[in-house]
Amino acid sequence: MKNKHATIPVFVPHYACPNDCVFCDQKKISGAQSPPKDLEEFLFSAAAGLSEKFTEADIAFFGGSFTGIDEPLMRYYLAAAKKTREKYPRITGIRLSTRPDFISEHILDVLEEYGVTSIELGAQSMDDGVLSLSERGHTAADTARAAKMIKSRGFSLVLQTMTGLPGDSEKKDIETAEKVAALGPDAVRIYPCVVLSGTKLEKMAKEGKYKPQTVEEAVKICAGLIEFYEKNGIDVLRVGLHSSDLTKNGSVVGGAFHPAFGELCESEIIYRRMREKIVKNGISGGVFATAVPKTDISKTVGQKRENIRRLEKEFDIKIRIAYKE
Ligand code: SF4
Repeated sequence: MKNKHATIPVFVPHYACPNDCVFCDQKKISGAQSPPKDLEEFLFSAAAGLSEKFTEADIAFFGGSFTGIDEPLMRYYLAAAKKTREKYPRITGIRLSTRPDFISEHILDVLEEYGVTSIELGAQSMDDGVLSLSERGHTAADTARAAKMIKSRGFSLVLQTMTGLPGDSEKKDIETAEKVAALGPDAVRIYPCVVLSGTKLEKMAKEGKYKPQTVEEAVKICAGLIEFYEKNGIDVLRVGLHSSDLTKNGSVVGGAFHPAFGELCESEIIYRRMREKIVKNGISGGVFATAVPKTDISKTVGQKRENIRRLEKEFDIKIRIAYKE
């Protein structure tokens, strides 16, 4: 099948990042120590080896703070990406992630020169108290300023936010989402905070100065945020970390990590919609039957039949789920 989009990832873990956000251990998050030595060779070979099913692909610099890298090295990486894009027409975009305070008109000039198409900003929160307790080293105003500059220069803008940070609350997460939406991003990513071993956050949790969010709490909050962004026409590209390395090397010591976190959120949203229908139709003590696509059955039923159990108990009804083709 055609028209699929691929990503060629290049990890730049903690490269040139002078910060130490309390939750961060980029080496574990990316599972890599440094980018490939000969980046051009790596990218050429990745682009040449792209499966035929992909009609287009992006080169994406993930991790670290790309625009904090020394300019000559940053230009070396970007030049390799640009050359790959020129040689392989299926490469249609170059993406990177960075911090709000590492954006300036000069940086944007450089990114434009090499054909960067999309910039992801780690906003994390729009609450200055949360940012300060998380030792982010930037403010919400920095994010707003950087977002405006990026958009006015015509780059696609993706904002990354987190839930469950020190000093955070559901109310602050909702306010953050409202402020993020007001900045007009093309898309967002939502990451519930995970406690990694060896981080300052782990120490804070051990000392009782930080209470990690549970998976259940994070699912409820993130499901609401997904619904909010969808209502506002903003794509949610990702919910929850997806590095299997996090669990492989045993580095997760707390917080809201679940390998199928996104699916748990979708399941919660389906639960809320079924509940809404039951309430609206005044169903109580009878049977509620619904048909969903086959691929949505497990999300509709919920993990360990949780959605069915909750609804049957609350409304004293029987839930029947059939599938439609
Ligand atoms: S700015 Fe990004 S890479 Fe640097 S410490 Fe914070 S989360 Fe990690």
